[in-house]
Amino acid sequence: MTIDGKEISYDQNGLIPAIIQDEKTGEVLMLAYMNKESLEKTVETKETWFYSRSRQELWHKGATSGNRQLVKRISFDCDQDTVLVQVEPMGPACHTGKRTCFYETAFEEHTPIRSIVHEVVEEIKDRRDNPIEGSYTTYLFNEGVDKVLKKVGEESTEVVIGAKNRDKEELTNELADLTYHTLVLMEMLDVSVEDVKGILRERRPKKEVLRDE
Ligand code: AMP
Ligand code: ZN
Ligand code: ZN
Ligand code: ZN
Repeated sequence: MTIDGKEISYDQNGLIPAIIQDEKTGEVLMLAYMNKESLEKTVETKETWFYSRSRQELWHKGATSGNRQLVKRISFDCDQDTVLVQVEPMGPACHTGKRTCFYETAFEEHTPIRSIVHEVVEEIKDRRDNPIEGSYTTYLFNEGVDKVLKKVGEESTEVVIGAKNRDKEELTNELADLTYHTLVLMEMLDVSVEDVKGILRERRPKKEVLRDE
């Protein structure tokens, strides 16, 4: 990809807004501005560089905090006045220490589906680290792997029964049970959702990406 070959549309101050996205989860991590120089440095070094409007200087993300961002993909929007940088973050993107700068919800109709699995995993980790009396997850952690394996076996059988019965409601409920127990098992044996997603991604047919078209 040649930056020069494209008509990048910088604003009157020579800046272009850069959306920084986690390439694995799709989460939007931050928004900052780049000038021509920082965009070129970003392409060259495969790490993010911005232009700080307040400090009026080039800024290598993570230079002081160590939370650098490894660049995996750069794209521009339809009219080339916004750049999307997909990265592998080495740590929190926000200077507050949060993973994303967009941690405050101003309005929410319902929790997005993608984060439900994530939230359940967070809750499972929390029960492991801070046991709560009467919590089923805490009970499973106390019982150990064999108990969870037994549950995974049972719930799998119940999924099969629900499917054989062509009972969508039963099947859906049993799939939820199986998913939950699978997530507990994964937590116990240190397999992450990202690990599984990585395998699924590897198995997909490779697409030829024509960069210069
Ligand atoms: P860092 O680039 O992470 O080493 O942080 C260096 C400085 O850059 C911080 O002290 C902040 O002033 C600024 N900074 C870092 N991350 C952000 C961000 N996501 N949004 C705005 N400013 C930031
Ligand atoms: Zn645009
Ligand atoms: Zn922030
Ligand atoms: Zn069940």
